[in-house]
Amino acid sequence: MLSVSGLETFYGRAQVLHGVSFDARAGEVVALLGRNGAGKTTTLKSVMQLVPPRRGRVTFRGQDITRWPPHRVAKAGLGYVPEERRIFTQLTVAENLEVGRQRPREGAAPWTEAALFDLFPNLAERRGNLGKALSGGEQQMLTIARTLMGNPSLVLLDEPSEGIAPVIVEQMAAAILRLKSEGLTVLLSEQNLHFAHAVADRAVILEHGAVRFDGTLAELDAQPQVRDAYLSV
Ligand code: ATP
Repeated sequence: MLSVSGLETFYGRAQVLHGVSFDARAGEVVALLGRNGAGKTTTLKSVMQLVPPRRGRVTFRGQDITRWPPHRVAKAGLGYVPEERRIFTQLTVAENLEVGRQRPREGAAPWTEAALFDLFPNLAERRGNLGKALSGGEQQMLTIARTLMGNPSLVLLDEPSEGIAPVIVEQMAAAILRLKSEGLTVLLSEQNLHFAHAVADRAVILEHGAVRFDGTLAELDAQPQVRDAYLSV
């Protein structure tokens, strides 16, 4: 589905990714793990071509998307949900979803409002509320729901469990597993190993912009020294 190979990404002269490579197979949930500043966000942005890599390649469904403009990447079926919530605070939940609908991808079965409310029941109760009245976790869910309105086949989620209440974290995990059961592929960045355990099939651990581990969560559990070296637990 997604193949990332030898990514080298810079901010100005500062090199942040030093040859990052990994794959995400169709229908898989892959967690990018690592401490603050390890390069998780930069990896997601490089996949999305928001920060294009200077070297290396990103292929999606066999097509080389490296250095495509981000809107074209989105049209190809990648949906990016940044860490900072992107909703319209002066629009209602329902109106926010309508805005998302303006860019459906060709050939994909569209997500309906009803299906999204089934995925995020909290949002259903808040349908007529303004975005600014939502809790942080609800805003995060609305950001994801809006992205789904574009019918991506691969969703990139930057720290979906960050800064939200524990009960909402559980609902977020349930929603991600639902997306997987619907056949979507998910690549998410996480600091929370517990959350990664709840949702991910595989973990890719970054440190200083390089991959230090790539394997299943069970394989990671069998190597506590890897966890201790590269994650804050
Ligand atoms: P976090 O969990 O804190 O977001 P991360 O693993 O996602 O961490 P990145 O945000 O990808 O890490 O940052 C990787 C490195 O790149 C860090 O050293 C960071 O300071 C640097 N960096 C990030 N964004 C920029 C930028 N716009 N300009 C310059 N350096 C940046």
